[in-house]
Amino acid sequence: MVERAESESRKLLGRLRDTMAEKAAGQERLDKITHLTADSIGTEVCSIYLFRDDDTLELCATEGLKPEAVHQTRMKMGEGLVGRVARTGKIINEADAPSTRGFRYMPETGEELFSSFLGVPIQRLGEKLGVLVVQSKEAREFSADEVYALEVVAMVLAEMTELGAFVGEGAALRARHTEPVLLRGVTGQEGAAEGHVWLHEPRVVVTNLVGDDPETERARLIEAVENLRISVDQLLAGAVMDTEQVQVLEAYRMFANSKGWLRRMQENIDRGLSAEAAVEKEQSDVRARMSQATDVYLRERLQDLDDLSNRLLRILTGQGTRTGADLPDDPILVARNIGPADLLEYGRKLRGVVLEEGAVGSHAAIVARALAIPLVIGTKRIQNEALNGDHIMVDGDQGVVHLRPDDTVVTAFRDKMAMQAKAQERYASIRDKPAITLCGTEIRLDMNAGLMADLPSLESSGASGVGLFRTELQFLVRNQMPKRTELAAIYARVMDAAHGRRVVFRTLDIGSDKVLPYMTPQDEPNPALGWRAIRVGLDKPGVLRMQLQALLRAANGRPLTVMFPFIAQYEEYDKARAEMGKALARERILGHNLPATLEIGAMLETPSLAFASKRFFEEVEFLSIGGNDLKQFFFAADRENELVRRRYDTLNVSYLTFLENIIDRCALTNTPLSFCGEDAGRPVEALCLAAIGLRSLSMRPASVGPVKHLLRRCNLVDVRAAIHDARDRGEANVRPVVMDYLRNLS
Ligand code: PEP
Ligand code: MG
Repeated sequence: MVERAESESRKLLGRLRDTMAEKAAGQERLDKITHLTADSIGTEVCSIYLFRDDDTLELCATEGLKPEAVHQTRMKMGEGLVGRVARTGKIINEADAPSTRGFRYMPETGEELFSSFLGVPIQRLGEKLGVLVVQSKEAREFSADEVYALEVVAMVLAEMTELGAFVGEGAALRARHTEPVLLRGVTGQEGAAEGHVWLHEPRVVVTNLVGDDPETERARLIEAVENLRISVDQLLAGAVMDTEQVQVLEAYRMFANSKGWLRRMQENIDRGLSAEAAVEKEQSDVRARMSQATDVYLRERLQDLDDLSNRLLRILTGQGTRTGADLPDDPILVARNIGPADLLEYGRKLRGVVLEEGAVGSHAAIVARALAIPLVIGTKRIQNEALNGDHIMVDGDQGVVHLRPDDTVVTAFRDKMAMQAKAQERYASIRDKPAITLCGTEIRLDMNAGLMADLPSLESSGASGVGLFRTELQFLVRNQMPKRTELAAIYARVMDAAHGRRVVFRTLDIGSDKVLPYMTPQDEPNPALGWRAIRVGLDKPGVLRMQLQALLRAANGRPLTVMFPFIAQYEEYDKARAEMGKALARERILGHNLPATLEIGAMLETPSLAFASKRFFEEVEFLSIGGNDLKQFFFAADRENELVRRRYDTLNVSYLTFLENIIDRCALTNTPLSFCGEDAGRPVEALCLAAIGLRSLSMRPASVGPVKHLLRRCNLVDVRAAIHDARDRGEANVRPVVMDYLRNLS
């Protein structure tokens, strides 16, 4: 019985292949497929519904329903049984369809004559393309073999749709990957970019779906799986990993050796698929399960299986990540996700980056920011929609991506880019001028940095120095802990590049969103409030000591400035400073050249430190407000959480008043104070910070020009008065009055 089913399914596939090989228009092909399928499964009806837009299905071909309904009958996602298959991605197999909940008569098709209904989704690697249906008058439930046969036809339809085999007139039969698409994501790094798509991992295209000889296909599959196993073993043998990573790879190896996985693929071959198609069918099933799975552990394991299928497909088709295609001159990288090391390898060649996943605080985002490359993250569907070489425009400010844009979009977008270029020219013209306001106050503008790739910006941005060097980035972009000599060499190069300008090195700030790939992750309920930054440094001082020593050696007789992150109370500063004292003493004993001067400061990132004892303000040599963290703790709003991270305005009166208190406390003890969170780089926010008394701001290099341009046009006395008046009137937010002031500027 099983054998008969297998040979039936093979026969159907063979006939499908012959049909596809014939020279015919898209519509004709679809008609033939419905005819063949109805004939082979033994039903009166076979219909193909394809999406004409995101939400509407259209009857595109039918055997058995009224021909005049083709391209006329449409339904919304979720509507009727067909719409339900489309929405859920699940098969519906009903003997008595008309009495099933949700059934909807479509009188124009004449379907009221039919009782049984079998509908399967047409989907390719999780992307929904349509629904394939068979119906018969006889009230019967379809057998597992019949369901399988229809699934295979649906898969062939999906692959052929991808390859453009059904292109014809009308929205549902339009060529794929040719229409303009607007996709929305989230801003990872501001800026606009135009270019051509470069897929980090190009899709594998399977063209030979049908296997002629199951024996040959089985042998190909087994050989490929064998190669896959060897490569996973090599990965395990070669990598330097902690136990956690080994465990993950072990799970990976277990799947690669799983008999069930191999058996399911072999069964697909027995039913007539080629080895590649057999893998892809299994992968589609995994993706369907993945979309249903709510359990995190299960999803991760399914993700492993999905990954393994990808590797297997690449082995079978010979399509590696390197396809031989040349990187375009203006590449915009499109990927599901990308690691910081890979992104750094592309470096400044990239015009923009669009990620399907990713997070604002991810390492990739940090690198994109350092390289000042516009980045949009969380852009669903981009991987399915984009083809290598497609024209693409990335609006990092709005988090919007225009793929294959039409002329109107191109013109509007280029206008916007031209305006930005004009602004850049304006900023360049004041690059060497100081940031002096109309009332004669000079504000020091520094830049934030963390990678060697940042350093050229020191010249080009016009920044006075580096107000925050995030040393953790050097740790994050590596696969293993850097050595002291390596770090000393990097820090020395940073100081060389600064040519005597002040560089504030912040010691390792890890934990929370910044997890080192080679350190065992802590399972913490609230990582942002957890074991991070100086807390790690003091509890496990080995790395902190190594880093301090590297900094002292890098300075080698030059001035050195070091700042400790996330100090929440005096004792932490005191202990960290003592570590520096010990490191200095050791260096002296070893006879090394000591820094000419040494400044030791702290970051004020928790409200608690604003209320520390006077002694702390007297002893600390300088303070820098880490506004990103300080604001998240002040408002109790997670900076990584899209739902709340924009909820509270920096220009909220309570927050500005709190900042003013810090400024006042520093003034009392003459403690130098600066601000180095993202707000320092937002011109309006920077203006307000200056107006309430901050005289030193550190920001991304790209922000120095815009902030300086605005400061030079403003009178801080007036802005301060406007802010205080608004507060005295009981306003909750000063943004409206500041915007009024700016509108009235000449
Ligand atoms: C901050 O918190 O404002 C800051 C500058 O540090 P980071 O963004 O690296 O946490
Ligand atoms: Mg911080």
